[in-house]
Amino acid sequence: MYQPTPLETYLKQYFGYDTFRPGQRQIIEEALQNRDLLAVMPTGGGKSLCFQLPALLKPGLTVVVSPLIALMQDQVDTLLNNGIGATFLNSSLEWEAVRSREREILQGRIKLLYIAPERLLSESFLPFLESARSRVGISAFAVDEAHCVSAWGHDFRPEYRQLKVLRQRYREIPVFAFTATATKRVREDICTQLNLNNPRIYIASFNRPNLYYEVKRKNRQSYNQLLQAIRAQKGSSGIVYCLSRRKVDEIAFRLEKDGISCLPYHAGMESEKRIDNQNRFIRDDVQVIVATVAFGMGINKPDVRFVFHYELPRNLEGYYQESGRAGRDGEPANCILFYSPGDKPRIDYLIDQKPDENEQRLARQQLNQIIDYVEGTECRRTIQLRYFGERFSGNCDNCDNCRNPQPIEDWTIEAQKFLSCVARCREKFGMTHIIDVLRGSSKKRVLDYGHHLLSTYGIGKDRSADEWKHLSRSLLHQGLLNETNDGYRVLKLNKKSWQILKKVRSVSIAVPQTTTKTTKADKNPRQIEVELLFDRLRLLRKNLADAQSVPPYVIFADSSLRVMARQQPQTREEFAKVPGVGARKLERYGDRFLSEIREFARERKPPVQVASDTQMTTFGLYQQGLNIEEIARERGLRPSTITSHLSELIEMRQPIDLDCLVSPERQKAIVAAIEKVGEKALTPIRDALGEEYNYEEIRLTRSRWRREKEDEEEPF
Ligand code: ADP
Ligand code: ZN
Repeated sequence: MYQPTPLETYLKQYFGYDTFRPGQRQIIEEALQNRDLLAVMPTGGGKSLCFQLPALLKPGLTVVVSPLIALMQDQVDTLLNNGIGATFLNSSLEWEAVRSREREILQGRIKLLYIAPERLLSESFLPFLESARSRVGISAFAVDEAHCVSAWGHDFRPEYRQLKVLRQRYREIPVFAFTATATKRVREDICTQLNLNNPRIYIASFNRPNLYYEVKRKNRQSYNQLLQAIRAQKGSSGIVYCLSRRKVDEIAFRLEKDGISCLPYHAGMESEKRIDNQNRFIRDDVQVIVATVAFGMGINKPDVRFVFHYELPRNLEGYYQESGRAGRDGEPANCILFYSPGDKPRIDYLIDQKPDENEQRLARQQLNQIIDYVEGTECRRTIQLRYFGERFSGNCDNCDNCRNPQPIEDWTIEAQKFLSCVARCREKFGMTHIIDVLRGSSKKRVLDYGHHLLSTYGIGKDRSADEWKHLSRSLLHQGLLNETNDGYRVLKLNKKSWQILKKVRSVSIAVPQTTTKTTKADKNPRQIEVELLFDRLRLLRKNLADAQSVPPYVIFADSSLRVMARQQPQTREEFAKVPGVGARKLERYGDRFLSEIREFARERKPPVQVASDTQMTTFGLYQQGLNIEEIARERGLRPSTITSHLSELIEMRQPIDLDCLVSPERQKAIVAAIEKVGEKALTPIRDALGEEYNYEEIRLTRSRWRREKEDEEEPF
C-alpha cells in the first residue's frame, strides 16, 4: 500500500496537498540541511512552499525578504488561513501595529515574518532582529524574487544589494534565494551579490505543462475573435495584454459594452485607480483585466485561467513571463497570442526610429525570435524552451501546432512563378503588385507599367491572393527572399532565390488550415451538474472571502472546488481528502461547504432515466441468476428484447456483470472494433468483427463502453 513519507504528512496537514510539485521535495530537504540554497523555478512552480514548510519544521523564525507590499499581505493571508503563524512588517503599518507584531514574534507565535530589504537592514530594526535571534532563534533568511539583486535582471532593486550584509553578520543562519529568472547570467549574479556560501543550486524545468499555447491569426474582425475567445472561457479570470495605453482603454471599453465584466490597467492611470482595479480583479469582482505589460509583477493570483496577447509581444522572454501568469495553480489554462502578419513591418518601423544602433540590433533580434515563434510550425513549447537553453523533445500535445499540425507541402513550382515575377518586375515592387501581376489583374498600375505584357502575367490565377501572400511571407521568413525596409517595402531576390529559380533548391511551406475543426461533443448531464455545483461553490467561496476581505483563492483553489463538485463529499472524512483541505480549513470551512453540497443534491431532481416495469422484471430474473435464453423463455419474449433490456439497464448504471454475459476476450475485441469504426451503428461494428460475433454481445458490450466513456468524460 502507498505510504506517505513524513514530509508528505506535513504537506497535507499544513497545506492540504497530497503530493509535491516537481523539485519541491529536493529543495525542502536541502533547506532542512541548513545550507545556502539557490532555487530557480518557473512562475507557478510553487516556490513559497519550499521555504514555508521548512519554516514550520524548524525551531525559530524564518525571515522572508520580499519586494512588494501587496504580495506580503497576500502570502500572509494565505498562511493565516491555513492556521500558520505569519505576519509582515512594512511602511503601511501604524506604529501600534508594528509594536504588537514585534511582541508576537518575541513570544514565539510567529513562524514566518515577511519584510522588505530596506527595513530588515535598517539601523533601527537590527536591534530587534538581534533580540529575536536570542529569544526565539532565526531558522533562515529566505530571499524571494532574488533576481532583484542583479542589475542584469529585468527588475533590479538597489536595496536588494544590501542583503550581502546578512551573510557576514549571521554566519550560521542559512540564506535561501528563490527566483523564476531563466537566464544564467542573473543566476550567477545572485550567488555573487548575496555572497552565498557554496550554495546548493536547484534549477527546475521551465516547462509549464498545464498551459495551452496557441497563436491565432487575426482576420479583419480581430476584435470579434478576441471577444469570442473570452466568451469561450465561460466567466473564468483572465488577462488581455495590449501594447499601448490607448489600445487598453479602447478594448476594455468595447468588452464592457459587449457584456464582459472587465477593467483597464496601465501606467497612465492614477495609482489609486490602478490599485483598485487590480484588487477588484484579484478578488473576482471582475472577470477580465485589460492591461499593458505594466500589469502582472507582484500578482499572485493563482487561478488566472487565460492570458491573451492581443498584440505581438516585444520579445519571447517577455511573452513567456506574461503568459506564465496563467495557471499558477497547476490547473489547465490557455495562452493565446493574436497575431497579424502586418505587425512585423509596423514594429520594424518603430525600431528604425531608435537612435542607438546597438539598441536597434537587439530589438531586431528579439523581434525575429518572436516572429519565429508565431510563424513557427513546430511545437510552441519546444521553441520557447529552446530559447531558454532547455531541450524539449517536441510534441507536447498541448499547443496548437501539436494538436493540429499544419501539413507541409512542396510549393517549389509556385515559388518559381513568384520569384520569376519579382525578377521580371526588376525587383522594384512590393508583394501586392507582384500578386496582382501573377493573378492577371487589370488594375491601372499594372497596365501603366506594361506589366500585363510580361510572361508571368496571369500565370498564378490558380491560387488565391491570400495563398500567394502566405507563400511570399514564408519565403521571406525562411530567408529565401528579401524585402527592403526603407519606407517602401520592395521585394529583392537573394542568392537562395536564384537557387530556387535555377531549380537547385526546393521550397516547402506549412499550409494553414482554413477549416477549424470543432470536435467538441455535447455535454452529458453529469457534466452539466458538476459545472452547476462548481459555480455554486465558487459563489460561496466569494462570500466567505469578502467577509474576511481576502481574495477568494486564499479560501480554496479552483482545483479544490472542482474536486468537491465532482466527488460531492458527504462527510467530514470525505471532505478532508479533497486536495487543498488541510486540518485548519476542514475545521473552518468544512461544514459550510458540505451543507452547500447537500443542499445542491436535494434541489436537483432525481435522475431522469428510470427503468421501466418490463426492464425491472427482466432485471429481477437476471438477479436470480437466469441467463438471457432462460429469461426470454420465462417471459415469453425474444432473446433480442431481453438483450436490449439488459443493455439499457447497463447504461442506467444498474449492477449487471457483463463478464457473465460476454467473455472478457470477446469484450476486448468488440471494444477495439467500436473504437475503430465508432459506436453509432451496430452493423459496421459487426462487419469489422466478422460472422462469429453476434449482435447481442456487441450491443451489451457497447452499453458498458458508453457508460465508461461517460465516467471518463469528467468535466473541465
Ligand atoms: P511561485 O511563487 O513559484 O510562482 P507559488 O508559491 O505562488 O508559486 O505557488 C503557486 C500555486 O501553487 C499556489 O496557489 C500554491 O498554493 C500552489 N501549490 C504549491 N505547491 C503545491 C503542491 N505541492 N500541490 C498543489 N498546489 C501547490
Ligand atoms: Zn507542442
